[in-house]
Amino acid sequence: MSQHLLELSAAQAVAAIRAGELDAAELFELYRSRAAADPLNAFTWVAEDAAVAAPAGAPLAGVPAAVKDLFCTEGVPSQSGSRILEGYRPPYTATVVAKLAKAGAPLLAKTNQDEFAMGSSNENSAYGPVLNPWDRARVPGGSSGGSAAAVAAGLAPWALGTDTGGSIRQPAAFCGIVGLKPTYGACSRYGMIAFASSLDQAGPLTRDVTDAALLLRHMVGRDQNDSTSLELPEEIRLPSRGDLKGVRLGVPQELTGTAGGIDPGVLASFEAALAQAQALGASVEPCTLPHAPHALSAYYIIAPAEASANLARFDGVRYGLRVAGDSDLDTMYSRTRAQGFGAEVKRRIMLGTYALSSGYYDAYYGTAQRVRTRISQDFQSAFAEVDFIVTPTAPTTAFELGAKSHDPLAMYLNDVCTVPMSLAGIPAISIPCGLSDGLPVGLQLAGPAFSENALLDAAYALEQALAFDGRSAWAGGGAPA
Ligand code: GLN
Repeated sequence: MSQHLLELSAAQAVAAIRAGELDAAELFELYRSRAAADPLNAFTWVAEDAAVAAPAGAPLAGVPAAVKDLFCTEGVPSQSGSRILEGYRPPYTATVVAKLAKAGAPLLAKTNQDEFAMGSSNENSAYGPVLNPWDRARVPGGSSGGSAAAVAAGLAPWALGTDTGGSIRQPAAFCGIVGLKPTYGACSRYGMIAFASSLDQAGPLTRDVTDAALLLRHMVGRDQNDSTSLELPEEIRLPSRGDLKGVRLGVPQELTGTAGGIDPGVLASFEAALAQAQALGASVEPCTLPHAPHALSAYYIIAPAEASANLARFDGVRYGLRVAGDSDLDTMYSRTRAQGFGAEVKRRIMLGTYALSSGYYDAYYGTAQRVRTRISQDFQSAFAEVDFIVTPTAPTTAFELGAKSHDPLAMYLNDVCTVPMSLAGIPAISIPCGLSDGLPVGLQLAGPAFSENALLDAAYALEQALAFDGRSAWAGGGAPA
């Protein structure tokens, strides 16, 4: 029976519970016990007790969610992968987590992540790296690596992550699952421990596109606690499209060549998926995003600049860690921050502070903002010609633990295909499109702001045709119960 339960997608489990064929408490206990025995270090906290029963008739019927550590959850450790917040238990819950609980998706576990969401491999976590369930010698991607590994390994039915420059899409790609970054503002950021506020977005990591749509439906909406949040023009629908007739897919030359550093195995899988899209009726045409080659440079100014301001609040006074300072306040601050932050976070704070310092502000931050505007305009021009932009999600498949952890620039290059959409604030989804040397490859589809429904429909049609089977990763999460 348990093996059979594991076969159900989250949406199928919701349907089974609602039909009276499955007991929500049994499903919760199956995943809770699997998560508690996690061999991947995907979690920083796992529920010890059964969930409070979902409200009668709740649309998500009690199918629980794993939630990235950086979402504040009342009374439950919320550490953003950092030593400086070790043991911090917030007095309130993030809006999206509260919305999910209300819709009937209770909290199953908190997932490991790169510290303050800075990273692409999950190796920057103060709580140790997460292992990829396809190959435990490899990284799961980051920064939402715990969420991605947990879903891929069948340790959670679905999960929440956040994406600032690729942190939902890239780990989804590395772990062979679906990850969606919504339009900026679609989900409230209230209660998300901030990295770069003009970029941070919450989104689902799921086994398939239908699950992503179902979870997202209950996350979105205007929240008075986040002034950047807004109501979507239409409700998120469950996707049903069977073909891609009349859909125009644009392949940006700047992000899809081996010259751009895309691994040949990744490109081969990407191109095979495009052929499938054509067989479904899509047209595939080259397009151009002329400023995309500058996206990484702009992102690695803007995100650290915002982070340097956001992280100023961690001073040893208000939250988490405090290291005594010989009765001297300044020493207390600096010792706390020196011991509380990891190397990558310190690097970003220094880069960001430098980029914002008077005399350099316009040369760095100002220039990066102008590049950001150009990138948005590039997408607008492209979307006058095509419906969606398609790229590989990441230039490589999951790499070995330690392979890039001493080379920040090599690590940053992972984000080359995902950062442009973040800067433009537009929605993008990664779906698994095949294997290269036995490891999953992700295909990214990006659309105009608020095109989530159309994007999910197109991704769904392609997903059905590609028929990717991710079940071999379940063994990586322990033998199926
Ligand atoms: N890898 C990128 C970074 O390190 C993106 C992280 C994210 O999206 N949170 O900044």
